[in-house]
Amino acid sequence: MTVITRFAPSPTGYLHVGGARTALYSWLHARQSNGQFVLRIEDTDRERSSQESVDAILDGMTWLGLDYDKGPYYQTQRFDRYAELIQLLLEQGKAYRCYCTREEVESLRAEQMARKEKPRYDGRCRHRTEQTEGLESVVRFRNPDDGVVVFDDLVRGTISVQNQELDDLIIARSDGTPTYNFTVVVDDMDMGITHVIRGDDHINNTPRQMNILRALGAELPQYAHVPMILGSDGARLSKRHGAVSVLQYREDGYLPDALLNYLVRLGWSHGDQEVFSTQEMIALFDLKDINRAASTFNTEKLLWLNHHYLMNDDPVSVAGHLKWHFDQRGINIEVGPALVDLVRIQRERCKTLVEMTEMSLFLYQDFDAYDEKAVKKHFKAKCLPVLQYLLEQFNTVSLWNADNLHQIVIDTAQAMDKKIGEIAQPIRVAVAGKAVSPPIDITLELLGKDRTLQRIERAIRTVEERNVEIS
Ligand code: GLU
Repeated sequence: MTVITRFAPSPTGYLHVGGARTALYSWLHARQSNGQFVLRIEDTDRERSSQESVDAILDGMTWLGLDYDKGPYYQTQRFDRYAELIQLLLEQGKAYRCYCTREEVESLRAEQMARKEKPRYDGRCRHRTEQTEGLESVVRFRNPDDGVVVFDDLVRGTISVQNQELDDLIIARSDGTPTYNFTVVVDDMDMGITHVIRGDDHINNTPRQMNILRALGAELPQYAHVPMILGSDGARLSKRHGAVSVLQYREDGYLPDALLNYLVRLGWSHGDQEVFSTQEMIALFDLKDINRAASTFNTEKLLWLNHHYLMNDDPVSVAGHLKWHFDQRGINIEVGPALVDLVRIQRERCKTLVEMTEMSLFLYQDFDAYDEKAVKKHFKAKCLPVLQYLLEQFNTVSLWNADNLHQIVIDTAQAMDKKIGEIAQPIRVAVAGKAVSPPIDITLELLGKDRTLQRIERAIRTVEERNVEIS
């Protein structure tokens, strides 16, 4: 049997990290079984669904590298199929038209509550004999009256629900449109889904869906309900805990590998291993090892993983992601060092690609202003002779490389009887506008001779002006 899993988001918002984790688990289960992974967009709620959300879901999946073998299928394109099966169930007596008005259903509910009973539709239209012509109706699934629905959830273990607990679910509204539980069932059947892996907020739907699947004569899939993700305060993870949209993590400078690694561990473990390459995840992931308890989102750990991947991923691949950030800011990367070189030089001191971009902007464009603290500390009057001397020395360099520049810094320190820092820091502020940059020789090599000289000249003017003002 070929394993077929699916991710079935409703496009009513961004791709949430919880959804992405469900998608990842479904994807891993399909990949490790040489099976198929289906993407299905559950867009029947037309009011709440939007193209923007569909795009965000597709972009998020692409960015994470969660490729699908089939789809995206759209439920709104399958209405004929749902209508056909609703008709079939009606003909077979497995569904029936319900003519109850809203008021009737509400008063039934109120009566049941008054009797301290669980509110449920009592099936009165199953046997309705009075004239119904011209009345509005919905279609209800005729749930079995007796017996019990049992399934072995791959995460939660055996779950059983008495059929008496389940009432006759509406499967088509009065305008004929199918309802959520019905479309899911038809799609899972038609798409041959063997494993339904989804959030445990759907666990109450499962027995109802199983009954409908049986009525349709379908084979039942296996179910794995994944516990939810909580924020650090124990409440369900939401925007108020910070970023929860996958694409926001891209904006914030995370690598997809880091987020995937973070998500796979959030709710699943393999011993105490923390770092998993995609290949390792595929080999080691097992639905049975998913935690039963909810997991707590920890941004610090994600940041740690991101740094790990910045340090260890192939710089060419990291550079590809870094380019996205430069492009977003409209920066022409042609005028500065190759991004692969930048990654190699900067990654040690950056936890995110946003930091890396910001720390490197000075290599691609002039900065507007110096960092005030750095100026106060390193642009004192005594650095003027240092900058002037270096300007002359750098001017004479014909082979502009880190080795030669390094030698000049050392020689200057010696000639002026100063510490290396007293030489390197003023130049650093002069060329980068701030007191932090990669090693100064490498920084200058990447910046190039012309721009280095221009920026030292600008620094000399600034130091002169400042010190005139001060004196
Ligand atoms: N469309 C549902 C949701 O986004 C998922 C349905 C399912 O996985 O069965 O919550």
